Amino acid sequence: ATPAATMVGTAIGAQNGVLFKGGDILERAKDVDTVVFDKTGTLTEGEMELTDVVAFDADDRPVPDGGTAAADSGIPATSGRLTEDDVLRLAAAAESASEHPLARAIVEGAEERGLEVSDPESFENVPGHGVRATVDGDEVLVGNRKLLRDNGVDPAPAEETMERLENEGKTAMLVAHVPADADEGVLAGVIADADTVKESAEEAVTALHERGTDVMMITGDNDRTARAVAERVGIDPENVRAEVLPEDKSDAVEAIQAEGRQAMMVGDGVNDAPALAVAHVGTAIGSGTDVAIEAADVTLMRDDPVDVVKAIRISDATLQKIK
Ligand code: ADP
Ligand code: MG
Repeated sequence: ATPAATMVGTAIGAQNGVLFKGGDILERAKDVDTVVFDKTGTLTEGEMELTDVVAFDADDRPVPDGGTAAADSGIPATSGRLTEDDVLRLAAAAESASEHPLARAIVEGAEERGLEVSDPESFENVPGHGVRATVDGDEVLVGNRKLLRDNGVDPAPAEETMERLENEGKTAMLVAHVPADADEGVLAGVIADADTVKESAEEAVTALHERGTDVMMITGDNDRTARAVAERVGIDPENVRAEVLPEDKSDAVEAIQAEGRQAMMVGDGVNDAPALAVAHVGTAIGSGTDVAIEAADVTLMRDDPVDVVKAIRISDATLQKIK
């Protein structure tokens, strides 16, 4: 393109809230044949809400709604039995030191239910897996299957409950409890958070498909939840890369590009920054973190996924006219 055309394209972008960091980037965007979306905060609002709390009885069976294990099974209560409120209170206390959106939703959900959330005596963040904390002298784990397995608690009895919630597109988290006087942890329950898919996410995916662009999704969330969300926005479940650890996101984008694709990565989080940097074009959501915006080539000033299509279309149009 001529410098004049590039300037016009850049200006049209700016008017539409699409900021290209330079003319070379505007030119590069036309070659994008694959758009890789981060899930949380990019395709979804990133505002989690607590949706489900399930308590497990001493035999690791989910307790029917609202009941305690003792009340529903006819078995006398023992100190090992927890109610739904107990499960939520423990999880919220463990998560109160975490800034993760999943954690904030759990704490807010507990407070909304009028539960008193205590501060943990100790707290450890396990990136990509969950948290480990000491609450009232007991060890508490909140996170995914791997977190429990790595800490000697078998997540298998919760599998049916986990899968049911995940198929609904929710992020299900296991809660395990290791009482101070016990040396083995027990499964206490399952908690689920859900996020809302952005209104225009499906429209953006459809428009990209119409251009002949492949659309993929990458997330640290589990495969079942990720596929359920993908299906909702029209992304082929085959194109979902789930359970990708924060430090592995850029490798995942490099692997996609190693297939000969020219990828645009779209993300919002600190986690996404390295992936934005290695992508053919990195695009940050304007409401995202500064780290993501700095690493990106394009910033979308609105939070609208449709602006991803606009960015590419402006590049297509600018370069077509000048050939
Ligand atoms: P994402 O890329 O979707 O933001 P993360 O890489 O932060 O996901 O986390 C991956 C998974 O690890 C989550 O889906 C969840 O199962 C678990 N996890 C991470 N942080 C927490 C937390 N604070 N509490 C509970 N589970 C967590
Ligand atoms: Mg994100």
